[in-house]
Amino acid sequence: MTDTDPGDRTVEEIEDDVRTIEDPGALSDLLTAEEEGKDRKTAKEAIQARINEVREATDGGEDTVDADEGDGTGDADDAETEGEYEATEEDVQDPDEGEATLDKKHVRALENGVYQDMWVYCETQGGELLDVSKEMLGKARELMDGYAEDYGDEERVVAVLVGDDMEELAEECITLGADVAVYHDDERLARFRHKPYTEIVADMARTKADWKDYDKPRYFLFPATNNGRDLSAQVQGELDSGLASDCSGLTITDELISNPVKTGEPGEKVEFERILHMQRPDFSGFEYSTILCIDNPDREFHPQGCSVIPGSFDAMAPDGDREGEVIAHDIDLPDDWFRVAVTEWDTLDTGVDLTGREVIVAIGRGIGDDPTKGIELAVDLVDAFDDADLGLSRGIVTASYNVEGHVERYVTEERQIGETGQIVQPPLYIAAGISGAIQHKVGMDESETIVAINTDPEADIRDFSDFFIEGDLFDVLPRLTDAIEAGELDAVVAEDDD
Ligand SMILES: Cc1cc2nc3c(=O)[nH]c(=O)nc-3n(C[C@H](O)[C@H](O)[C@H](O)COP(=O)(O)OP(=O)(O)OC[C@H]3O[C@@H](n4cnc5c(N)ncnc54)[C@H](O)[C@@H]3O)c2cc1C
Repeated sequence: MTDTDPGDRTVEEIEDDVRTIEDPGALSDLLTAEEEGKDRKTAKEAIQARINEVREATDGGEDTVDADEGDGTGDADDAETEGEYEATEEDVQDPDEGEATLDKKHVRALENGVYQDMWVYCETQGGELLDVSKEMLGKARELMDGYAEDYGDEERVVAVLVGDDMEELAEECITLGADVAVYHDDERLARFRHKPYTEIVADMARTKADWKDYDKPRYFLFPATNNGRDLSAQVQGELDSGLASDCSGLTITDELISNPVKTGEPGEKVEFERILHMQRPDFSGFEYSTILCIDNPDREFHPQGCSVIPGSFDAMAPDGDREGEVIAHDIDLPDDWFRVAVTEWDTLDTGVDLTGREVIVAIGRGIGDDPTKGIELAVDLVDAFDDADLGLSRGIVTASYNVEGHVERYVTEERQIGETGQIVQPPLYIAAGISGAIQHKVGMDESETIVAINTDPEADIRDFSDFFIEGDLFDVLPRLTDAIEAGELDAVVAEDDD
């Protein structure tokens, strides 16, 4: 490698290459060649980090090579073993202390690793499984049943739980589609803690056990909740794989790929098997992308992982007759992982609370022609009901409309309904000028009666509305207000009751 021009190598290749070089002189030459050539910051950092590592080992009279790896002479073949866990010290200098402050432990990509099963991280809250955990288990069951039919291999659905008092919930996961439920209990884990949760889930995934004789999960689903997003990114990073975030569609199928980075054979199409196709809404829901996590010729990416938008899939009906294995996971949790002491918990003031209202009038980007007028008309309709409030789609929150002062206070994120806003289920939900993107839908589709007003008869919201009024909200809203004020709706309801 040292004879090679680093300019011919990608940064990732250089990072790999330098791990096998023990000679500081050769590394310095490489650094100079990079500086005089492409001069890439990340490449130089990788080489410099390796120089520091080698020097530290020499100066301290210690050998960085793991005792298991041989004689400690730094033989290039011994210095790195693909697929084994490797403790690396990255010299991140704290200017005050002048010494290494970060130890990162990571697993390197495997070569010819063995991957199996679909894992599902089942988030809990207040001693219950979140709905999204149940939904993911239902989807995982469906996918792995299809997988068995398509590929003839019975691979399992593995539920993963971390918290306090998880055993019963682990058993519940079996009734909801899991074949195995592995849980880690500790009273300090009653609420989500970034560091220990990450370490525990990563340890479950990469450590072989009686019930798991493979290297890493084949697939891994996480919930796209606040905590799930945090955990999914960390765990997939620890496992040296990627993550497709906020997905709402999943299928497993083979895929013909022509990209030479993946095939290693320019001009050739190669079929990759058993690929999880992870669909996610992009560009604020205007387009769906399908993300694939596919191995490179010299590097494997597993688990194929994603986070899943709540409400995207159906949970299966609990089946008490299902059988499965419930496993308690055990590793020491060093105090160091709990360095942040949580002394008090509080619930943030959510400002406007839309839950519990009889009626919600929600508006979306359909007000775009005259946002001030649109808000005024919606507020008029709100006022016509006894117990109503105004909700917004995220489209409004992010639109930066220039509205007049008297309606400004209505355009706030705290009124947003949907995946990243409030979840409501009032007796009556009126959606005016809202297209019905999945992220909005999950916040309101449990409402008893949904009335949508939209100029586009093909708008997605039509599919989950009880009444669809094809029309311009600037015409329809005032007519509805008049009808309510005139008591006409009461008359219609009374007629219906007869
Ligand atoms: C990670 C993530 C999280 C998200 N979280 C949320 C969330 O919590 N809540 C949420 O709402 N969105 C959320 N979104 C955004 C979401 O994907 C959509 O972009 C958003 O819901 C669209 O808002 P909209 O329906 O108001 O606008 P659009 O999609 O632009 O729809 C406007 C609709 O108004 C109709 N229309 C136009 N003029 C009129 C008129 N004069 N009268 C009647 N109808 C008219 C149009 O036909 C169209 O159907 C999220 C997106 C991402 C990526």
